[in-house]
Amino acid sequence: MKTFVRCGSLFTGREDEPCDGAMLVFDEEGRLAYVGAEAAAPRRAQTDRLLDHSGSFVMPGLIDVHTHLAYGNAKSEEDIDLYSPLEFRALRGMFFAQKVAASGYTAICSPGDAGQISLSIRNAIRAGLFDGPRVMAAGPYLTTHQGLTDWYPTWIGAPTTSIGKLVTNINEAIEEVRSQVKNGVDCIKLALDGIQRRPDGELIAAFTQDETDIIVRETHRLGRKAISHSVGREATLYAARAGVDLIFHGFDLDDECIAAMLKSGSMLCPTLTHPRNLIDFTQPHDPAAQKGRIEQTERRYRTGVANLRRAVAAGVPFLTGTDSGFAITPYGEWHAKELELFVADLGFSPAAALRAATETNARFMSHGDQIGVLEQGRAADFIVLDGSPLDDIRILQDRRRLRAVHIAGKELKIADRPYDPRQVTDFALTNWSDLYTQARVAELAAGRSRLAAE
Ligand SMILES: [Zn+2]
Repeated sequence: MKTFVRCGSLFTGREDEPCDGAMLVFDEEGRLAYVGAEAAAPRRAQTDRLLDHSGSFVMPGLIDVHTHLAYGNAKSEEDIDLYSPLEFRALRGMFFAQKVAASGYTAICSPGDAGQISLSIRNAIRAGLFDGPRVMAAGPYLTTHQGLTDWYPTWIGAPTTSIGKLVTNINEAIEEVRSQVKNGVDCIKLALDGIQRRPDGELIAAFTQDETDIIVRETHRLGRKAISHSVGREATLYAARAGVDLIFHGFDLDDECIAAMLKSGSMLCPTLTHPRNLIDFTQPHDPAAQKGRIEQTERRYRTGVANLRRAVAAGVPFLTGTDSGFAITPYGEWHAKELELFVADLGFSPAAALRAATETNARFMSHGDQIGVLEQGRAADFIVLDGSPLDDIRILQDRRRLRAVHIAGKELKIADRPYDPRQVTDFALTNWSDLYTQARVAELAAGRSRLAAE
């Protein structure tokens, strides 16, 4: 039995223009047997099934290459690293992976995890135990005592439940790469940004160029892909020179970084949604606001976008990802906001943004030649919308516009299940974000009486 899908408008991921009056045909294995004009489609047998989406827009399932299944919509780094056992995080991650898929994202990369959470979710979905997106999985970030994810003081170290694996020399780094590959990861994540800055404010990379080269070479030798977290110029440059396959952020990149990326073929996922949401959503009472992070992020976003636009113009491939898994980027909510920001801030056309989130993203994913584009031989991973994102890219964020999600042909039916977020994350021990001296209490009381008088 084959399934025929009549499409009002079909965006294959190959061309910028959609094609009207098209037909998709897929077989029982969920593989596309025909994609093209309905008039030229193969004849439909009596036993075949027809899905009539003749009033709708059909496109490849969206891909988010930057979603952290282990984080649980975290409000703090401690939430990410400490309080939930790995077993609970895996169950929680499966629940949230389903939410991501239900929002139209049929494949994700989960780069950087404690333990083996993402790869367990990947394997459970792949084995047919649960419905969910295709998952490309990493293990813990490799980090140093000068790197991101080594958050805690040296006398505490990096607990085994952390998303960071602290390596203290190159041999330990190689050993960690080999052990993660043995466990079955698809990619290795490097925390390449350091925590120290030069007097001029530039971030110093966490690893040296030599160390980065060796780690990436070993990753590639074992047939896996390398990802780096690189906001700083130096971390971006080291990653690009070493041939890291996918660089996250790159906000401080310069022309030397761009040239190195073009030479080595590194792709870039700027991940605008996380900083944008931090700026847009953080409330005055949030600790992030009180630490001055809104203004700081606003400044970095502005210079970052200006730098990134130069990389777009130079032809660096741009991928879409959101850093979903934080309290400002809950799963299933903001994945498609990245496309809106590609259009608004990076100057992409809506079609180019759609292709970034499908065809370009697929080029990075494992088994990427099977997804991202609707063409004969690839998987029937597609979504159905009741309007065209080419007219308004924001409709991808509106769940009411999403009519259907298919993965390998099968329609995903996941009920929108309510849950208690207080039992899911937010176990950090902070109780107050203010200091109640007599002066502060008097100030607050004055503020209250002023409000009452108004
Ligand atoms: Zn991230």
